[in-house]
Amino acid sequence: MSGVLTRDIKYVGGVGEVRAKVLEKEIGVRTIGDLLTRYPYRYIDRTRHLKLGELDESMDNTYVQLRCRVVGKSFVGEGSRRRFVVEAVDATGSAELIWFQGIKWIEKRVEMGREYIVFGRPSFFRGRISLVHPEIETVEQCLSRKQESGFQGIYPSTERLSQAIPVKAMQTIIHNAWQIASTDASAFADPLSEALRRKHGLITLREAIYNIHFPQSSELLRQAQYRLKFDELLGVQLTIQARRTERHVRNDGFIFPRVGDNFNAFYHNKIPFALTGAQQRVIKEIRADMISGRQMNRLLQGDVGSGKTMVAFMTMLLAVDNGFQACIMAPTEILARQHYASMQRFAEGLNVRVAILTGSSKSKERRASLSGVASGEIDILIGTHALIEDKVQFANLGYVVIDEQHRFGVEQRAKLWTKNQQPPHILVMTATPIPRTLAMTLYGDLEVSVIDELPPGRQPIRTFHYYDSSRLKMFGFLRSEIAKGRQVYIVYPLIKESEKMDYKDLYDGFESISRDFPLPNYRIAVCHGQMKPEDKDASMAQFKSGEADIMIATSVIEVGVDVPNATVMVIESAERFGLSQLHQLRGRVGRGGEQSYCILMSGDKLSKEGRARLEAMCATNDGFRLSELDLKLRGAGDIHGTQQSGDAFELNIANLATDNQIMQLTRDVALEILADDPTLAKPENSLLRELRERHHRRERIDFSDIS
Ligand code: ADP
Ligand code: MG
Repeated sequence: MSGVLTRDIKYVGGVGEVRAKVLEKEIGVRTIGDLLTRYPYRYIDRTRHLKLGELDESMDNTYVQLRCRVVGKSFVGEGSRRRFVVEAVDATGSAELIWFQGIKWIEKRVEMGREYIVFGRPSFFRGRISLVHPEIETVEQCLSRKQESGFQGIYPSTERLSQAIPVKAMQTIIHNAWQIASTDASAFADPLSEALRRKHGLITLREAIYNIHFPQSSELLRQAQYRLKFDELLGVQLTIQARRTERHVRNDGFIFPRVGDNFNAFYHNKIPFALTGAQQRVIKEIRADMISGRQMNRLLQGDVGSGKTMVAFMTMLLAVDNGFQACIMAPTEILARQHYASMQRFAEGLNVRVAILTGSSKSKERRASLSGVASGEIDILIGTHALIEDKVQFANLGYVVIDEQHRFGVEQRAKLWTKNQQPPHILVMTATPIPRTLAMTLYGDLEVSVIDELPPGRQPIRTFHYYDSSRLKMFGFLRSEIAKGRQVYIVYPLIKESEKMDYKDLYDGFESISRDFPLPNYRIAVCHGQMKPEDKDASMAQFKSGEADIMIATSVIEVGVDVPNATVMVIESAERFGLSQLHQLRGRVGRGGEQSYCILMSGDKLSKEGRARLEAMCATNDGFRLSELDLKLRGAGDIHGTQQSGDAFELNIANLATDNQIMQLTRDVALEILADDPTLAKPENSLLRELRERHHRRERIDFSDIS
């Protein structure tokens, strides 16, 4: 960044010592450059005033601009609740404007009968509209003020920041900062050549920065947004693609040429069902990687119940038949034990030794597993995070499978690489389909396989949403299903911050179920995060064997658990779960041939997003559609453990949920640039190098070593 942009913000007109401190503390803005690269997240058309009658609850707490007349004013309340209240009207309705601070000063400025432009965030209560601490000015003042443009940017802010610098003052400060920056021709020098800009129809960086803050028209605003998103995503792609090239050049994958005895024996004699077409295709894709000479880094996406475990097992046999060891890492103890049980069964009669290692393995089991993998006696090791520990030394690890990847941090995965001198092949399996854009950012060049077909005979799960007030209906339904010999899950939210709460919610629920829903003849198993692993196992075993009719659990049950006879999943306080979690939980049923059901219970009062999630769940069983929607509702930073993406790439303006096209385009542009200058060493590319670094500040993750 050039000189003028590094200047301290406090010398900008309208800032000063006090506001500068708040800016730094609240949003980390210290320099003119910092300020000008924070963009508005939304714009208000200042030439437009909403009518009070046009306001509705969907605008709760979003900025609006009104034009109304003062018809009443008064001081109300005592002490700290004392406030100044203005009754304002227009032709279509009325609202209260309320101030708690500086009320004497405001009172003097507000004249009865006069018209004001009011700018603020409405709230709605019992049909009344009120605005607390709005900004107001007379219509004359507003008209006389020189306007940069019809649009007013609204900047991300904090409570304290908006107290110190109201929206309009912020606008003035940014304008002053821009004036200073524009005295320096090298501020905002363009990293993109003219040729490149022309080819892709991009305005200059300078024009873009100006118009993002002070859009001169809606078309220029659109172009400014496009240009700035382009830059951000190009920075991301330059990082990812450079690493991809590097990895491909290394070309050091193990080669597993043989399809050997174990694989054939299993496939021809032991496999309990016919593979689906999708399973067969994916196994072929993996096999092709394993003989390519290139180290495999493959993401396997397959909706819940699509049969990923079988793919994992059979491809592990490929490794074993070629003299290598394989391991599979699961996110929970329960899931690891479950894989262990089924893989041990699969391996019966084969020349394959399977072992388990988890955090709670008893010392005997632990010693046996550790020495077995070190000596090479054990072929397949199944476990949890415990597999990553340094103590776990393999004789010859050739293949790593990671199940339900979103539970693992990127760094944890990267550690598995170091378990052999040469990196093993890696398969990352996920049931939470990752939207394409996000996959491109997170995994860069990971190859992707998709199981897009469920085993035959599955019926789509039917999902319903009940309010707590219809609880009896739900109980009645459970009774009828249990009477048919089916089993039922009832899941309570797990509150991350407080394991104790989790426990309490579950037991409260348990009690209320026994009270409201007398179940003398029903057998209930319980499973939650606070239980000892062996108790959890015992509980699971009870349910799996059919000894228990009802499993009451927290979301520890979320991933992977496989009990085909369970046909009902009741999710309590469903509004407290994220979409991908709800979908995961629902995936615990519908695993056999019977019609299965998912019942979402919620309180009567739902937030807009909570309602949207529950509606989406009732509308579709398609994990892909749900994950796209999840991304839109929550933003990328928050989604299933992919905070890493937000951390690694500090995206200011690009949106991974919606900017798919720009992402694709910048990928091609990045490849073109790198083909000519792989390390961006050429002088004309120095600004591109900066661009890459700007959006990839925290150099924590190596994206080629993602897993
Ligand atoms: P997920 O992809 O969610 O991990 P699983 O591997 O647990 O799914 O498989 C779900 C269920 O489907 C298991 O009971 C498994 O045995 C069964 N299954 C897997 N593949 C097939 C198939 N090709 N035909 C019939 N059942 C299958
Ligand atoms: Mg699974």
